[in-house]
Amino acid sequence: MTLENPFENSRKQLAKCAAILGLDESIHEMLRHPMRELRVTFPVRMDDGSIKVFEGFRIQYNDARGPTKGGIRFHPEENIDTVRALAAWMTWKCAVVDIPLGGGKGGIICNPKEMSDGELERLSRNYISSIAQIIGPRKDVPAPDVYTNSQIMAWMVDEFSKISSFNQPGIVTGKPLTMGGSLGRSDATARGGLYTIREAAKVLGIELKGAKVAIQGYGNAGSNAAKLAKEMFGCKIVAISDSRGGVMNMDGIDPEMASQHKAKTGSVTGMLNTTPVSTEAFLGLDVDVLIPAALENVITEKRAHTINAKIVAELANGPTTPEADDILFQRGVHIIPDFLCNAGGVTVSYFEMVQNFYMYYWSEARVHTRLDRKMTDAYKAVYAASQKYNIDMRTAAYVVAIERVVTAMKDRGWI
Ligand code: NAD
Repeated sequence: MTLENPFENSRKQLAKCAAILGLDESIHEMLRHPMRELRVTFPVRMDDGSIKVFEGFRIQYNDARGPTKGGIRFHPEENIDTVRALAAWMTWKCAVVDIPLGGGKGGIICNPKEMSDGELERLSRNYISSIAQIIGPRKDVPAPDVYTNSQIMAWMVDEFSKISSFNQPGIVTGKPLTMGGSLGRSDATARGGLYTIREAAKVLGIELKGAKVAIQGYGNAGSNAAKLAKEMFGCKIVAISDSRGGVMNMDGIDPEMASQHKAKTGSVTGMLNTTPVSTEAFLGLDVDVLIPAALENVITEKRAHTINAKIVAELANGPTTPEADDILFQRGVHIIPDFLCNAGGVTVSYFEMVQNFYMYYWSEARVHTRLDRKMTDAYKAVYAASQKYNIDMRTAAYVVAIERVVTAMKDRGWI
């Protein structure tokens, strides 16, 4: 998926799957539109005493399978079409991992890098009171996304609790542990992705012990993936990169040492016992698993011809362009598509919701076991659909997800 016209892209993907599934035209038409959109403007007092008016959105794309769920982004270039597309993708993501939630998304047009903590707190609180009518633990549950974090979630819980006159920890997920967050959330995306890699390796007959892994992007998702790939399966991390460049060592890079080096110098580049590697060479490395965990649109049509990995596990959102997708499919590269591979985060967010409802909190081991089950089942369902329809894994993931949403819509008698 390219992100230039995200909503149009999401509709194209939907149309492709509608054709495969032979969807009724009225069902297809309903799925082309968000069910509910709220646009708000609200004032925030800035530190210099002035009042600035901000614009925000909350979109609930489809709630046939349950209350909607999706992050809140703070971004200067936020716009309603991006939020619509992301809300649609959340619908498919929740459905593919079979959690009883629909998809939503929210955003505020703002530049958080230019705002003080006090201004961000007032912005977060005022946004929540502006959208309070349509959100709730049983209606729509936001979470952190681009430039939002657990502190922002904590302010939102507090504001919503004041509006409700009682404590409402379940209004958002991604909270600090002290106020109802879940253990196992911080590395859930990487861990969930690794469970799908394990399943793919079984299908393809790849031994993961000693398997060569290259990871583009050494942030939250990428660095956790490196540590867990080594710890869980004994993989050998042979190349890593960040925005300043890439490094490689075919004998293996120690993920802990890489994190320490990055913490000290701000980058993985220049690490001891590694040699620099260009982006082109990085993506073309002869590895078993390539994990894009940075940006969108990095595997392009041109680069797709040089990919040498057996598995491409998309922890990042949208790393592969549609043109590259077709080439990789023809070349027999096994893609674990983004909204399956990185669904571990939303799955543990759902576990956080469950724990909030029960007011009873699970051990980290229990979170891991349940996450494994969800991701494994999801991978198997998608792989089975790819075999049944003879389609690529990405299209198969959409087919599984859309079929589940449509079934719920029919069960409800909507169509
Ligand atoms: P992050 O900001 O922590 O890390 C991003 C990393 O990518 C940084 O190390 C950065 O230096 C690196 N990077 C930037 N430009 C690069 C380039 N040109 N080449 C190589 N590396 C580059 O972000 P994150 O939370 O780890 O998210 C990474 C991706 O995973 C995003 O696409 C995000 O949407 C997706 N994702 C993350 C989560 C999560 O829970 N963290 C959940 C779902 C999806």
